Amino acid sequence: MKYAYDLHIHTALSPCADEDMTPNNIVNMSILKELDIIAITDHNSCENAEAVMKVAKGTDLLVIPGMEIETSEEIHMVCLFPNIDFANKMQNIVYDNLPKLKNDKNIFGKQLILDDKDDIVGENEKLLLTATKLSIYDVVKYTKELKGVSFPAHIDRKSYSIISNLGWIPKDLDIHTIEVSKYCNIDKIISKYNDFMIIKSSDAHYLTDILEREQFIEIKSKSIEEIIKYLS
Ligand SMILES: [Zn+2]
Ligand SMILES: [Zn+2]
Repeated sequence: MKYAYDLHIHTALSPCADEDMTPNNIVNMSILKELDIIAITDHNSCENAEAVMKVAKGTDLLVIPGMEIETSEEIHMVCLFPNIDFANKMQNIVYDNLPKLKNDKNIFGKQLILDDKDDIVGENEKLLLTATKLSIYDVVKYTKELKGVSFPAHIDRKSYSIISNLGWIPKDLDIHTIEVSKYCNIDKIISKYNDFMIIKSSDAHYLTDILEREQFIEIKSKSIEEIIKYLS
């Protein structure tokens, strides 16, 4: 079956994302856009993923818990996990490898933790919008150990991408998927990266950024395990 996806969406936990990126707003917008599968991928944290999953329960929308981890090379990697427990385990590893600095709300923005009613239950005080001490190899390894999948984000962008920062994708990096940004013309780059599966997601920081029903994945059934298997 073909399913419409958007596997890179931020919530109000990301300081750079709009405060309207609440669990209910994200789920409702995704359903309105007739998406089948979304992933919640905040910067270096997954503290809002469970609330989004709860909101989507009982609907046809599948929500994957994930994170967009910034590596020591300042490369963004999208990581997806089979369940919230494993995502939280990765979050602990990420938190252990973040610099011990506080977020400055006035410079970067708030980092809101929300529940499934969209009520604010807290604010993450850590500086999330920064590089961890984890290398790209560490991120791939730890994600795999937690039965997840990771891939470099928005490789066509001029910042925080594996191509902008390294110039190439290392042959010994154990990945099979790469992500391009919303406005990238895949046809133009496909020949350069034919060793990889190329997916396109929105990297939504605003509700209107979320993809329309335009990108599809072909898998046997709509389950997180199937998607991770496909991207691995
Ligand atoms: Zn990014
Ligand atoms: Zn992002």
